[in-house]
Amino acid sequence: MKNTVKRRYNKIRDRLLLKCRCGECEFKSICSGCRARAYAETQDYLDEDPSCIYEPGKYDFKEIILTEKDTLGIEITYRLPWEKKAQNRLLKIPSFARGMVVKGVELFAENHDYPEVTVEIMKEARKSVIGRTMVPFLKKEM
Ligand code: SF4
Repeated sequence: MKNTVKRRYNKIRDRLLLKCRCGECEFKSICSGCRARAYAETQDYLDEDPSCIYEPGKYDFKEIILTEKDTLGIEITYRLPWEKKAQNRLLKIPSFARGMVVKGVELFAENHDYPEVTVEIMKEARKSVIGRTMVPFLKKEM
């Protein structure tokens, strides 16, 4: 039993086994999608993450490695207050990207003199980023 669980976890961690969009994605080494969402949707935890909007191929299917500088640091450091709904929305983003999102959204909020981060501000910040930078992890609006 213990070995079966261990084997399953090793399979989940092996990016080479990912299928569909996540399998061919340039960002799979730093993202790999949410295995729970893949399982919930298809009963195959190696399938693509159905909530991701990124279509692989934009970077010629070549693996992309982001440095800490590129991700604005991985740790989350809050400088502004966040309303509860905004915090909950943040939890829907892959964990490795949250630090980057917090910094980006807070920078946007400060530039617009917003004293607190709300869901509406997160959406505004998201719209301002799309098309300007390389952000593959944005969730589909559900
Ligand atoms: S960016 Fe999207 S397609 Fe690529 S690995 Fe992550 S969830 Fe999968």
